[in-house]
Amino acid sequence: MRGELLELTRALKNHIITNSRSIYIKGEVYPRVKGIEVENLKDIRSDMGDCKRCDLSALRSNLVFGEGNPEADLVFAGEAPGADEDMQGRPFVGRAGQLLTRIIEAMGFKREDVYICNILKCRPPGNRNPKPEEIEKCEPFLIRQIESIKPKAICALGTFAAKTLLKTDAPISMLRGRFHLYHDIQLMPTYHPAYLLRNPGAKKLVWQDMQMIMEEMGL
Ligand code: SF4
Repeated sequence: MRGELLELTRALKNHIITNSRSIYIKGEVYPRVKGIEVENLKDIRSDMGDCKRCDLSALRSNLVFGEGNPEADLVFAGEAPGADEDMQGRPFVGRAGQLLTRIIEAMGFKREDVYICNILKCRPPGNRNPKPEEIEKCEPFLIRQIESIKPKAICALGTFAAKTLLKTDAPISMLRGRFHLYHDIQLMPTYHPAYLLRNPGAKKLVWQDMQMIMEEMGL
């Protein structure tokens, strides 16, 4: 009974954080007030500091906060940094990142026009899947980044990012190809560029998703 109650409370909290017209600042949910001053990315990075909120801090070489235009219309959000990203402290810089850059350029943007980040800011060892307690500690920073940037659209890269942001167990093949609402912003899930390196045949599906994003953004 206690377990069911805890599960219900957790689901309700996730629902409120995901769907409410609220902002999420320093671990607290506040109602969104028209004209409210939203913190900037530097404030969020500064608040994060030398973060030790979860055990991944002990294993990282660099914290990978995210990079790009702080007023971007489009945010790409992946799962977590990999080895190259951990070494350089920058998101999506390995082979998969280079493919993402080519996709961004094919959409008519430069990499610095958009914002690129991950749900987790530190690399899980051996690129294992993030644990629920790591997501619980780190996702609020992503939410604050998105609240600060206020993009027109978000592209969730890969199964894990899509499932985590949308609080669902549905597979990426069911989620992609249509928009979902995330904090009042249109979110398009698509395949991760690392998946595309292994399965080039899926590139045409990703391009369909990118075209839908471009249409949503009026491009
Ligand atoms: S993964 Fe996130 S919460 Fe965990 S130590 Fe890194 S920045 Fe902090």
